[in-house]
Amino acid sequence: MLVYLNKGLVPASDAKVSVFDHGFLYGDGIYETMRVYDGVVFMLDEHVKRLYRSASRIRLGIPKNIAEIKSAIYETLKANSLRNAYVRLTVSRGYGPIGLDPELCKEPTFVIIADEFREYPEKYYKNGIKLIIAGTRRNLKEAVNPQIKSLNFLNNILAKIEAKQKGAYEAVMLNARGYLTEGTICNIFFVTPHIPPLSRGGRGGVLCTPSVDCGILDGITRKIILESAAANGLKIKEGKFKKDDIYNASEVFITNTTMEVMPVCKVDGKRYKVGPITKLLRGEYKKQVMNYSGGGSVMRKVLPLPS
Ligand code: PLP
Repeated sequence: MLVYLNKGLVPASDAKVSVFDHGFLYGDGIYETMRVYDGVVFMLDEHVKRLYRSASRIRLGIPKNIAEIKSAIYETLKANSLRNAYVRLTVSRGYGPIGLDPELCKEPTFVIIADEFREYPEKYYKNGIKLIIAGTRRNLKEAVNPQIKSLNFLNNILAKIEAKQKGAYEAVMLNARGYLTEGTICNIFFVTPHIPPLSRGGRGGVLCTPSVDCGILDGITRKIILESAAANGLKIKEGKFKKDDIYNASEVFITNTTMEVMPVCKVDGKRYKVGPITKLLRGEYKKQVMNYSGGGSVMRKVLPLPS
């Protein structure tokens, strides 16, 4: 495997970062995870834009421009002959003496890791996954804004530990005011039960998701789902929700770049079926992936298309 480190590709065994890197010492850095379908990086522009937004929020200068980042990603994919892959792009504050001052680090560390994408087990999509509402609260947006996709994941890891201890796959965190926010690596959606007279029209319920101001990462998958729900005539509510709203829901699902749309079968003691709206939106997401061509032309230049 070849890894892109700072200025170019190196064998994975030589892709080493200093113990003085502030990414390692303090979690001072940012990242993006992308998904590659049939040689094309899905939503590449959106990921790169978010990388720059995260960087600007922590006053980190990215050592490459947008075009250079895109070509470094495709160079890494090409070098590893990858067509269905994940890409993890990390930019840390870089090497510097001990101390929190960002100016101690002269050069950011820039890393791209790409490898074959191993699908999640099919049963996760067929039956749904178990989720808990964690006791760990999501970082206050006024403290560490979750919109910064940072290397500092301890908040989420603490919630994940709780989930594992309770035999669940994912944990959703509340914010300090007790409103639902997001999972440890995903956004959350749920559907309110069919309430007359909407249910008489056949498609009742409202698709609900915590709003960005609850303190969440504005997921790229979340945005696609909201747009496709609107295009399909679903009622949508982005807002502030409590635990009970999810307990009373008829369907629950989570979203992120690699999971796509993953149904939830249980939240704490409450059970759910994989419902029609989850299935509809999962199908719509798949269609978007199939029809996506952004970056395709770049890819054709660097990778031979399958015969
Ligand atoms: N929320 C958190 C905390 C995440 O880490 C992620 C993805 O890593 C998401 C939400 C979903 O974001 P996206 O759909 O852009 O992958």
